[in-house]
This record gives sequence, C-alpha cells and structure tokens, in this order.
Amino acid sequence: MSTLRFFDPHIHCTSRTTDDFEAMAKAGVRAVVEPAFWLGQPRTTLGSFIDYFSSLVGWERFRASQFGIAHFCAIGLNSKEANNEALAREVLEIVPRFALKEGVVAVGEIGYDEITSAEERAYQWQLDFARKHDMVVMVHSPHRDKKNGIRRSLAVAKECGVPMHKLVIDHNNEETVQDVLDAGAWAAFTIYPYTKMGSERMVEILRKYGPERLIVDSSADWGVSDPLAVPRTAALMLERGLDPEWVRRATWQNALDAYAQSGQIDVEQLLRAPTIDQSQLFSENSVLRGQTPRIESAPKSGVPN
Ligand SMILES: [Zn+2]
Repeated sequence: MSTLRFFDPHIHCTSRTTDDFEAMAKAGVRAVVEPAFWLGQPRTTLGSFIDYFSSLVGWERFRASQFGIAHFCAIGLNSKEANNEALAREVLEIVPRFALKEGVVAVGEIGYDEITSAEERAYQWQLDFARKHDMVVMVHSPHRDKKNGIRRSLAVAKECGVPMHKLVIDHNNEETVQDVLDAGAWAAFTIYPYTKMGSERMVEILRKYGPERLIVDSSADWGVSDPLAVPRTAALMLERGLDPEWVRRATWQNALDAYAQSGQIDVEQLLRAPTIDQSQLFSENSVLRGQTPRIESAPKSGVPN
C-alpha cells in the first residue's frame, strides 16, 4: 500500500473497471473528479444525458466509495456535442439541475473542440452559469490548434467574468502552460501512456515551471489511457530528483485546493484513511458478485503523506 496519496482530478470512471479502482486505491489514489464528457459516440436524446449525469452523482460516486476512493464530479455539456445545437439547447436547460447537486465540484468539462460558434455559445452559457453560482470551471482544450484554443478559452472566460482562480484549463503542453499561468488559472496536464503528454515531459515541465498551480491528471476513459498515470508520474518525478514537496503539490494539493473552492469536499475527512464498507447498497445494488464484503474502518490517526 502506497504511503503517498494522490488526487486524480480528471478520470472517466464510468469507463473503468473495479480492477482499476483496486489498483488506483493500492497506488494511493484517494480522490478523483469525474467530469461529464462525450462517450465516444454522440447521444441522440436528452434522456441519455439525464441518465449519464444521474450516474455521475449517484452510482459512480457509490462505486468508487466501495474501494476507498472519494469521488467528485463535474457537470456540463462537452464541446463536441455542443455542435448538435437542437439537443445542446435541451441539455443546457438541465445542466443546472445536476450541477448544483452534492459532490459536484465544477462545471465541466466544457470549452472548445473544433472551435465552432456553436461550441462558443455553449461555453459562454455555461461560464455565465458558473459565475452566477460561484462555481469552479474545468475546461477541455482542443487537440488541434491547442494554443489558440486555450488563448480563446481564457479570453472568453475572462469576458464572462469568471475569476481566474476558479478556472482549470486541462490538456496543456509545453506550448500552452505559460499562457495559462500568466492568466492566473490552474494548468492541468493529462498524462497519456503512449502519445501526447507523457510522464517524461511532465517531469521537465514541473522542473521548469515549479509547482505553482500545476496539476497532473490521467483523463483515463474508454480509450487507450492509464488510470495510474498520476502515481506513476509522481514516482518518475521523485526518481528524477524533483523536490518531494513539488511533487506532492502537483499530484495532490493543487487539485484539492482548486476543487475544494466548491465547498463540496470535506478536506478533514479526505485526510483520514478511507472507510470501506462493501455491505452498503446503492438502490439495492452492490458492486459484489456474491463475494464477502470488505469492511475497513479508518484508524484513529490519519495516513502519512
Ligand atoms: Zn475528459
């Protein structure tokens, strides 16, 4: 069992298995944020979004808890599906109903994909909503034309009056990090196993920029991705001689500070060892298949970090 603890503030748990949850918990992942996003295939009706958002605040939260992982989520209309404008209008109407529920730490992931005007309208609408409710915003950045996409995401958020300390820009790289830090927003990095941003590059980014507002995440989903990206990257950072305090901030504290602004995270409870009770049920269902439920209560003292 790892003595370090990690926060993976971007992972699509609904696409992951219980083996992943077990491996994550064992590697020290103590908390996650699961942002609402695209499922790989476009949804055709509002009901699909309603059921998906319900699962993020319900079943997925329960499922993670059964392995000792605190699950928080972000609710929003993703940029890709914002391009189906008729459906997008309906989805935006129900976003407030879910975004204000318990365990929701941000509006997200929202932003640009192809940088279309439909995406911009949905982004602005959700930024306005977030500002009115003083919420944190998690922004997805486009994989093509990323630099311009991120500059525009920052500018539009500023225009909408979202304070920069409430803005997390995700999927950064070496080309974009300075713009995000200069703006005063949080700069998150998704670590993919084979492509895009890898752990090696992340080590050098942390070395160069220091730990201020840098966040490491996995964005693990239904594609080729790694639910252990955060602990693995932390291990490489330590191996390469980076200051353990810097590593702790980039893989735990900064994500906690950013999303605890929501008021939805009980930090004291998170610092204690997790309580696991697999005898619990969610709507009469458990994650077990006839196994003996694991029941572990937290020891009196907190876990070291
Ligand atoms: Zn994502």
